[in-house]
Amino acid sequence: GVRMRGVTKAFGSNVVLRDLDLDVAAGERVVIIGPSGSGKTTILRATMTLERIDSGTIEVGGRHLYHELHGSKLRPARESHIRAVRSDIGMVFQHFNLFPHMTALENIMLAPMKVHGKSREQARDSGMELLDKVGLAHAANQTPGQLSGGQKQRVAIARSLACEPKVMLFDEVTSALDPELVGEVLNVLRDIAEEGRTTMMLVTHEMGFAREMADRVVMFDGGQIIESGAPADVLVDPQHERTKAFLGAVK
Ligand code: ATP
Repeated sequence: GVRMRGVTKAFGSNVVLRDLDLDVAAGERVVIIGPSGSGKTTILRATMTLERIDSGTIEVGGRHLYHELHGSKLRPARESHIRAVRSDIGMVFQHFNLFPHMTALENIMLAPMKVHGKSREQARDSGMELLDKVGLAHAANQTPGQLSGGQKQRVAIARSLACEPKVMLFDEVTSALDPELVGEVLNVLRDIAEEGRTTMMLVTHEMGFAREMADRVVMFDGGQIIESGAPADVLVDPQHERTKAFLGAVK
């Protein structure tokens, strides 16, 4: 799981995360909702170490991400430690970020070979399995330019899974897609969720999807969690005025 305590992050004078505490249990699926600029992307990027936090702690799978324990004291972690803990985390972005000159399969094979020292054969076999899992075995040798947005996103998800992350972060992965392509990507997310092995944190505006698959919905505003609970509570009968206003606006 993931455990955050007192996480604070500012960009200049813009405080984006304010003393944030968040726990995500191992295997839990948490959907983060909230208005634009409330810090949803930043909390995922901070967990992926794409943004460094100013203060607080983040633990992933029981290990501190940005700190190392010396006796009972926490000290800032060395890069090698951060890299090791981060290898348990995968992230999928709104804009796929596939390597355009590589085929779908090559995109998926890259990290297992470069980062995890897998042989080409191993990487190819598990890459093909993953492509099959996302329904794209037939597209293994196509480059991103030859794929639809939904197919590109499914390749991006398969690429993330190739490193066997314990925690997966999804940042508005359907927002850039044409409406008719959203369903095929949500189906892949459902499959991952149903396997139940992966801790998932998802930022999404797909409220129907959130209601169906989230164990918990967390409402962000101003870099803080203002409401959190079962989707049937937060999405259907929100307690906080700002949650009501937000849900009224996205419906
Ligand atoms: P959205 O739904 O629009 O994606 P969000 O809740 O994901 O919003 P963030 O992307 O986390 O919000 O951004 C929170 C705030 O941080 C915004 O005011 C944004 O302008 C600012 N911000 C994010 N990244 C940077 C950066 N690299 N440099 C400066 N400001 C940034």
